[in-house]
Amino acid sequence: MRSRSYPLSREEISYYHSLLGEEITDYDCGNLCRPDNGGVSFCCRNDLALPWLYRSEFSLLFERSGLWQKWRPRTDSEKALSREAQKGDIVFSTCSGEAGCERVNRSISCRTFPLEPYIDERGVFSALQFMQEFREHCPLSSRPADIRQAYIDAHFTFWEKLLLRRPEDFETYEASSRRARRQSKKTGEPLVLLRPGWP
Ligand code: SF4
Ligand code: SF4
Repeated sequence: MRSRSYPLSREEISYYHSLLGEEITDYDCGNLCRPDNGGVSFCCRNDLALPWLYRSEFSLLFERSGLWQKWRPRTDSEKALSREAQKGDIVFSTCSGEAGCERVNRSISCRTFPLEPYIDERGVFSALQFMQEFREHCPLSSRPADIRQAYIDAHFTFWEKLLLRRPEDFETYEASSRRARRQSKKTGEPLVLLRPGWP
């Protein structure tokens, strides 16, 4: 059965944001994907990669910036998706777009894209991996060596704290890691795992 934690506080969100300030690459990786996405970075096109915020993160950022709005689901399946997310304390949201982005007010989902925790066969969080559903669209997935070690280290620290705090998220990433292993077995493509720089 899926565990449920009590909601994150605004103070926790601010602390998590403070851990997630590292640049992902030494260059603007948006230059890799903008030409194929109408001049906008793939991960900033809300129609292709819908951002999500923890509920307290949404209220914190909504109060201090005009960057975020709640997503308006239209179809029945979108409405069901939105309801399901809310049960997990998550709000799907849209931003005012890349041209008006405010770096300091980006969400955790913006800051962590395109990586997520990898939970290994032992049930241990041991690395970061590319989100499977976006691999084809994010050019960095074929350039893992371009991702800065300082970014990997800081994000590993963030996820260690968050996964302890939110067992339901641990379960989500455990399941996606299992799917990634199955896919890797099926295709013969090795998993790409980004590990922290400490032993
Ligand atoms: S993270 Fe990937 S999708 Fe986002 S801007 Fe960089 S290359 Fe493009
Ligand atoms: S808030 Fe900024 S980083 Fe996040 S999706 Fe919007 S434009 Fe991209």
